[in-house]
Amino acid sequence: MPKAYPIVDHEYDVIVIGAGGSGLRATFGLAQQGLKTACISKVFPTRSHTVAAQGGMSASLGNMGEDDWRWHMYDTVKGSDWLGDQDAIEYMVREAVPAVIELEHYGVPFSRTPEGKIYQRAFGGMTTHYGEGTAQRTCAAADRTGHAILHTLYQQALKHNAEFFIEYFATDLLMDDDGSCRGAIAWNLCDGTIHRFRAHTTILATGGYGRVYFSCTGAHTCTGDGNGMALRAGLPVQDMEFVQFHPTGLYGAGCLITEGVRGEGGYLTNSNGERFMERYAPHAKDLASRDVVSRAMTIEIREGRGCGPNKDYVDLHIEHLDPKIIHERLPGISETARIFAGVDTTKEPIPVQPTCHYNMGGVPTNRYGEVVHLKDGNPDAVVPGLMAVGEAACVSVHGANRLGSNSLLDLVVFGRAAAIRCGETVRKGEKHKPLPQSVTDKALDYFDRIRNLNGEVPTAALRTEMQQIMQRDCAVFRTGETLKEGSNKLAQTWAKRAALRVKDRSLIWNSDLVETLELENLLYQAVTTMNSAVTRTESRGAHAREDFPDRNDHEWMKHTLAWCDDTGKTRIDYRPVHMQPLSNEIEPIPPKKRVY
Ligand SMILES: Cc1cc2nc3c(=O)[nH]c(=O)nc-3n(C[C@H](O)[C@H](O)[C@H](O)COP(=O)(O)OP(=O)(O)OC[C@H]3O[C@@H](n4cnc5c(N)ncnc54)[C@H](O)[C@@H]3O)c2cc1C
Repeated sequence: MPKAYPIVDHEYDVIVIGAGGSGLRATFGLAQQGLKTACISKVFPTRSHTVAAQGGMSASLGNMGEDDWRWHMYDTVKGSDWLGDQDAIEYMVREAVPAVIELEHYGVPFSRTPEGKIYQRAFGGMTTHYGEGTAQRTCAAADRTGHAILHTLYQQALKHNAEFFIEYFATDLLMDDDGSCRGAIAWNLCDGTIHRFRAHTTILATGGYGRVYFSCTGAHTCTGDGNGMALRAGLPVQDMEFVQFHPTGLYGAGCLITEGVRGEGGYLTNSNGERFMERYAPHAKDLASRDVVSRAMTIEIREGRGCGPNKDYVDLHIEHLDPKIIHERLPGISETARIFAGVDTTKEPIPVQPTCHYNMGGVPTNRYGEVVHLKDGNPDAVVPGLMAVGEAACVSVHGANRLGSNSLLDLVVFGRAAAIRCGETVRKGEKHKPLPQSVTDKALDYFDRIRNLNGEVPTAALRTEMQQIMQRDCAVFRTGETLKEGSNKLAQTWAKRAALRVKDRSLIWNSDLVETLELENLLYQAVTTMNSAVTRTESRGAHAREDFPDRNDHEWMKHTLAWCDDTGKTRIDYRPVHMQPLSNEIEPIPPKKRVY
């Protein structure tokens, strides 16, 4: 063990890394069952990216018209372009209804209908009668749903006496020689101490990795550290090529303008003032699925019909809506548009462009949240002691494309499922087996190496280089040629890691060291995303190949698994998609062409 790091030891039944919606839901579910639980977070819990979720959370409550979990399931499977696992999807959409009611009882201040029911709005891809009508399925607390949910979950976690380690940065998992996870190492950003958390189960809830791209709606903290830790531990990530670009990122700043805006009657126009979505999705128009709208916008811009001096955005109109509705249901949007684009939404349109928004890929799990990997030919082999939930995980309920408002749902349903599973698998207060010293040393050596990087490349410069490659070569549209070029360029970026410079060696509030650790994690994910995209020679959901424009179910109805070694070399393999639903109350939903 490097002598410079005296260790503070902790022992828990379960630790949760991450205090976003998924991590907090898991944390309080664990504490509620009497399991000794710690939640570790690099930011204050209520600053996690979940706080920024605007539009809402889907559930077929039927408060605003007919609805049925089967329609929600159909929409989710279709939205996933048939890459989602139908057993996990059935579980999620059925649990959605009690999950929302439960949140309401915990104190989430949902918006209300005149009769006092939970208000539900329309969202892209959400339909009734298997694609026939428009569903109002997305439960909203104005345009601050994530904020409301996150605060409520944090209060519940405190109430149930979960222990929090706030502004602790988890650097690596403690992986035993037998392949099981025994906890994690974390660095206390505030006083510089290093902590070893021993746990029977470790739950990764570290969120997405949007910051791999240059323009992104996610917080600066969305660096997918859990995915990086899993990859460094020799585990695979799944379906990384599927990255969602949100159609309406505010031009320039990247801040999100929720799809709820179009749900409330907003629409898009090109520089000719034409409502172009009518051409691309005659039925759903502006409320087609996100990948469909993002591609349509990209085509309009490419063909010279973009707005503004550089013809590089389109207009989003809400100025025709009643200002009272905007004030009541979308107050945050008007503020964002005013501050970041100088636009008065009651008078003029909002300039928007497709922006990286969500990662469908992540650490592969089963529907209990247990991490799986391919072992001796078994695609469902569980990694003992390791779970993943939320955007860090790939269950997979979103397949090749997530429907808006299905992620908040995923967080609470699978955060809860993971806690329930731990109640069955972890024995309270069980003694921890001795941990070989080499396991701790490995994690500390890694930390020490990064801390002492003393080359000439600033972290920010290498990060920008990676983000630009991803933005240019691996965004809304892809071709074999640009992807291969991107892959080669990323290999060069990877090679420069050794020449990085961390400005000083301090362990106290050293943001440069934090950002370098995050960049390491981002690079692992950039490489696996790019190389998974090179390999998949078809178009499905968010992965749109111009050289392979069609979906190819015969060859590609399978999940991609990608490993990355410490030289940046990627290995690819596959797992089958689960086509069989959980119960016999619904037939498997057979693949068909995905039109809106
Ligand atoms: C602007 C925006 C709007 C959105 N709107 C919606 C919406 O309306 N409806 C919907 O369904 N979805 C929406 N989404 C998607 C959804 O909000 C996210 O997928 C979801 O909030 C992710 O939650 P999470 O629990 O996985 O992680 P996050 O909320 O991202 O939290 C990650 C947690 O992990 C911790 N962490 C990370 N790395 C480390 C580390 N190394 N050490 C310690 N802690 C660490 C962080 O501190 C944080 O607590 C939106 C996303 C964005 C960006």
